[in-house]
Amino acid sequence: MNNLIEVKSSSSSPGDTAKDVKDVFLYDMSFQTYILTNSLKNRDMSIKSVKLMCLNRNYVRQGKLDIKELFMFIDCTEKVFEMKEDVSKNIEDFKAFMTQESEPVVDIGDRCGKPYECGYKNWCFRGLPEKNNIFQIGWKIRAKKVDKAYKDGIHSFHEVLIAYNDGKIKLNEKQLRQINFALNDMEPHIDKAGINEFLSLVRYPLYFLDFETFQSAIPLWDNTSPYKQITFQYSLHIQKKRGGEVTHKEFLGRDGLDPRRELAERLCADIPADACVISYNMSFEKTRIRQMSELFSDLSNHLMSINANMIDLMDPFSSGAYYTRELGGGYSIKKVLPALLPGDPELDYKSLDERVQHGGNAMDIYPTMHLQPPEEAEAIRKALLAYCRLDTLAMVKILEKLHEIVLV
Ligand code: SF4
Repeated sequence: MNNLIEVKSSSSSPGDTAKDVKDVFLYDMSFQTYILTNSLKNRDMSIKSVKLMCLNRNYVRQGKLDIKELFMFIDCTEKVFEMKEDVSKNIEDFKAFMTQESEPVVDIGDRCGKPYECGYKNWCFRGLPEKNNIFQIGWKIRAKKVDKAYKDGIHSFHEVLIAYNDGKIKLNEKQLRQINFALNDMEPHIDKAGINEFLSLVRYPLYFLDFETFQSAIPLWDNTSPYKQITFQYSLHIQKKRGGEVTHKEFLGRDGLDPRRELAERLCADIPADACVISYNMSFEKTRIRQMSELFSDLSNHLMSINANMIDLMDPFSSGAYYTRELGGGYSIKKVLPALLPGDPELDYKSLDERVQHGGNAMDIYPTMHLQPPEEAEAIRKALLAYCRLDTLAMVKILEKLHEIVLV
């Protein structure tokens, strides 16, 4: 009798059962079980239980790491054994596919990206126009709708538009705008009332704020949990009046130490409690600030007041009040910035040190910065500061541009 334990780096909550385990993990376990069961047959051995070992997302580190609390097991034996027949059938199907002379004919669709991006995507999607195809409609179009349209032969934006006019596919106003802009040379769509609604929330002095965070599977410090976002850096541009001079403040953690307390203190010192704070996709910043306020009760009032006075520069773009072809159905700051201010070398992320040109780089590089030789650590530090600074400078410039747009 043997126990099979599948180790995953994902996290679960105590009390989770096999029903809460992702299908892809259950398939992994059932495949391993199938292989082992067949390998052990001749030795008169069998698998007694199958468990998933993962991280306990509710574990909060206090002092020394408690390994027994950090990891948890979910018994999946029954579910995995039930899937035995599926595995055999899948293996037979795979063998049949592999001996087939011609490529299997299957529809592409949403599943090609789930649960992971399929490695054959470039090949299977080759029949679609590279630009302006049905899978590139933005504004959270439902995957089922896209899959059905694809099966119905609606592939290019041109075909989508015909289908829309024939009543064969429904699109909302923003999706239709994306398609019309992609197919025609059009002036930007400007809903001045919508933009002004956002601008009416702006109060000076204005604090442009952006955070960088990282996650660690193993909690590194007290009061951290597996994969909890740790805020290690912020950039803050401050503008006292509209169109006025901007000053800059910043914080970046050092030496592999827990940066949270110092960061929260500095943030409270840099931003007055009742100031108007502007962020891009503010739910991210607000969640980080709420986490800090839960951790540091003496700073809680100040931190929550920063949250209460925060406005979101993404609103005029996510609401569709401003749209231009270059946005391609998206509204992230990395799309909006070059669309609104094309060709400005000061605002080009690609001109930054290649170590840190996007948030993913910052997230990956920061945790190891203090382990690098001093010269390299300093180069990383400078790259992180320059990257985060550009994020808030971009916000300053985007806001300026919005003011200009409504004046025209
Ligand atoms: S991309 Fe992958 S999942 Fe999609 S049809 Fe091709 S092989 Fe299948």
